[in-house]
Amino acid sequence: MNSQSPASGAVSTVPPAQAGAGSGEPVRDLDRAWHAVPLQEALQATGSGPDGLSAAEAARRLARFGPNRLPRGPRRSALRRFLLQFHSRLIYVLVGSATLAAAIGHVTDALVIASVVLVNAVIGFVQEGRAEEALEAIRAMIDPQASVIRDGRRLTIPADEVVPGDIVLLEAGDRVPADLRLVKARSLRVDEAVLTGESVPVDKALEPVAVDAALGDRLSMAFSGTFVTAGQGAGVAVATGAATELGRISAMIGAVEQLTTPLLRQIDDFARLVTTVVLGIAAAVFAFAVLVRSYALDEAFMAVVGIAVAAIPEGLPAIMTITLAVGVQRMARRKAIVRRLPAVETLGSVSVICSDKTGTLTRNEMMVSAVVTADRTLSVDGTGYRPQGEFRTVDGRQLDPAADPVLEELSLAGLLCNDAHLRQSGEDWIVDGDPMEGALVSLAMKAGHDTAAARAGFPRLDEVPFDSRHRYMATLHARNGHRPVAYVKGAPERIVAMATRVATLDGEQPIDAAAWHERIEALAADGQRVIALARRTMESGTRELKAADVEHDLTLLGVVGLIDPPRPEAIAAISECRAAGIKVKMITGDHVATARAIARQLGLAEDPVAVTGHDLDAADAEEFARYTREATVFARTSPEHKLRLVEALQQDGSIIAMTGDGVNDAPALKRADVGVAMGGKGTEAAKEASEMVLADDNFASIVAAVREGRTVYDNLTKSISWALPTNGGEALTIVVAILFGLSLPITPVQILWINMVTAIALGLTIAFEPTEPGTMRRPARPANQPLLSRRLLWRILFVSTLMVCGTFGIYAWASARGLPVETARTMAVNTVVVMEIFYLFSVRYVHGTSLTFQGVLGTPAVLLGLVAVVLAQFAFTYLPFMQRIFGSGPVAFADGLVIVGVGVVLLLIVEVEKRLVVR
Ligand code: ADP
Ligand code: MG
Repeated sequence: MNSQSPASGAVSTVPPAQAGAGSGEPVRDLDRAWHAVPLQEALQATGSGPDGLSAAEAARRLARFGPNRLPRGPRRSALRRFLLQFHSRLIYVLVGSATLAAAIGHVTDALVIASVVLVNAVIGFVQEGRAEEALEAIRAMIDPQASVIRDGRRLTIPADEVVPGDIVLLEAGDRVPADLRLVKARSLRVDEAVLTGESVPVDKALEPVAVDAALGDRLSMAFSGTFVTAGQGAGVAVATGAATELGRISAMIGAVEQLTTPLLRQIDDFARLVTTVVLGIAAAVFAFAVLVRSYALDEAFMAVVGIAVAAIPEGLPAIMTITLAVGVQRMARRKAIVRRLPAVETLGSVSVICSDKTGTLTRNEMMVSAVVTADRTLSVDGTGYRPQGEFRTVDGRQLDPAADPVLEELSLAGLLCNDAHLRQSGEDWIVDGDPMEGALVSLAMKAGHDTAAARAGFPRLDEVPFDSRHRYMATLHARNGHRPVAYVKGAPERIVAMATRVATLDGEQPIDAAAWHERIEALAADGQRVIALARRTMESGTRELKAADVEHDLTLLGVVGLIDPPRPEAIAAISECRAAGIKVKMITGDHVATARAIARQLGLAEDPVAVTGHDLDAADAEEFARYTREATVFARTSPEHKLRLVEALQQDGSIIAMTGDGVNDAPALKRADVGVAMGGKGTEAAKEASEMVLADDNFASIVAAVREGRTVYDNLTKSISWALPTNGGEALTIVVAILFGLSLPITPVQILWINMVTAIALGLTIAFEPTEPGTMRRPARPANQPLLSRRLLWRILFVSTLMVCGTFGIYAWASARGLPVETARTMAVNTVVVMEIFYLFSVRYVHGTSLTFQGVLGTPAVLLGLVAVVLAQFAFTYLPFMQRIFGSGPVAFADGLVIVGVGVVLLLIVEVEKRLVVR
């Protein structure tokens, strides 16, 4: 899986004489002051060199020093996790009831309560363990990578596999994977806040510093866990894993995150409140039963225990946790990896998605399709990165690239001012590096250049790396027998502004900037990404290149137009967003005309309103707010604009998801309600700052995550709307019986049974409910919407009452026919269970009717639960030993049908209510 490409002069500061890769025993003296060691000595001492370690040596060291990982904090032991299942007020009440029941001689009841508690704990324990494991597996999908040099080649490896002596390459956005003694630093700045608390990035250098320098002053080192904010560098790993400075200050990290979110805490609080209220009611009923109805004390007590057990939603917390975990797993399956659990909820209420264009909305598989030089406009054909294709003039004639020296030099510039490599894998051509640069490599090959020969013939002496703020990149090359040349590529307006001349077939001419702007506009309006290429011949002997050297007096070679088609899934996802009331805004560093054309192709708007970073800079606060509201396309923006955009959009209460990949995007990602980092091209800094990481960098995955987020919220609500009325109905049955002095239609121990069977087998199934149809055709849920809406409270009351009526109805009917009380009660119990089953089918759809083919069919989880409950009820009704424990009795087949009929009636009534309320 490791991608390989030749190292392009990464460790140029180390003279080849020092090469000694893999030889010698690595010194790994923990207390050695590496920051004070001259770099040559550091290389020698670690047995490394400019070519890095050999693969074999690296493997040997990995075995010897162990993986580059901090030791995990101890996981909570299984026993502790199990015991914690009992740590809740709900369970204390149940355990207390069981103890008291046993004390007054109701051993059966006590045992049944105890089994409810136990089964509940076991299920909670197993499910929670599974959820934690699943989350860890999902986290592992975004484990950091590191770039190292081994055997003279640049490799991308898991950061875990870095060993002492590895030459590690650093660039902006990287998380430093190990403690490094720097061997190369170009404007290298590192944010060391994790170690030193100092938030201002530190400028790194190569010179050794004093032995007793404080951590923050060890400029010749880059420490594990810190972030590169700018520049480039390389260093030799001197400590990995627990031996790093980070490892020393925090010997333990990685404790398992709590499985909780704000909403879950809200539900927990609510469950506690319910417990208190239930205890109050139970006490009142107890007093009433004894004083007014003259119940015997122990009988009254057991009735009250029945009320308490019935009414307390003891299974609810487990159901909630499982719902959340199922949601996270579903998102991961859709390539959206949640890093912070609360994001699962926030995703459900996202109302604006701000997305990067290149690679997220488009495929980021680029191909040069046009080349414009001063003399001619050419089209280039081909597919993907395959380096085969013809150059044609506007009138369709084929052009031999060798016949056009300007085209030759332009394509050479594109090849040399470039960090990407193409490689063939079977039939396919794959790019290692930036896709746009890959396209330029392909162009050079189409133009007849031999990539290896060209790179060797014009060795790179120095470079100015690409930065999204200045929007160009430049490299300096030596030429045999000629003065060195700088090649520059970048945003065309930028390059044209820096150029004074243009290369033509008849030599250099003064540039006609206006004419070039027109050509650029024309390409961009077609949705092409435009890149300009230029050269500057430098004084002989120049070995270094500064930004100031290339920002004037360039000779423009021409521009190229690259096609980067929209992702078809993104088009579908955008129309889904529209239906779901979610606004999508495109933010890009690209040209405004290109961005608008792509926005149109994506269906973002008929005639997208576009503003540029320049407009934003010139705007006052009010204008800025108006722009953010009205525009769908933000072009030629810098990462700084993203932060201001998020802040402005949040002003009116919108919930923002914002994508990003670079180190400069981190502040905006942090500020957004849901920061979304790219898993593929994103930097570690961006991932660290975000709530969610997209494994496939795809916009459609964000929308899939929003859909799952809405589903999780719906399922949480559904669990509550099922659990509360059914618990309420059970409890109310006993309360009503005592209040009106009726004989109990269900005994306390039977209530316990019902509770145990249904809460687990039925309640849990809701966690696995799929997305309801129409979920993405509703507007986003307001973020502050309370969980217990008035509608839900009404539901609880309404359904509880229906259940009481059904239970008493059946019981009265059975008693009136002179059936034995055991049978009458068994019928009542079965009626409650049947009503809960039918109500479950109703609850599965909150926004639509359940009376559809799909609705009746259920899901595997629901059907499994259903079968389990039916079997349990048959056992309860007909098995002699169950009859002894629970005082149940056999029910006639015809009566069974009537009971099912009651369930059907309940479903119909609730469906009618649903229709009336939804209206
Ligand atoms: P986007 O939002 O489309 O990813 P970027 O910020 O990456 O935009 O790039 C902004 C502009 O900078 C591009 O339109 C292009 O003109 C220029 N550019 C991007 N990548 C490079 C590069 N590797 N070398 C030179 N110029 C580049
Ligand atoms: Mg980009």
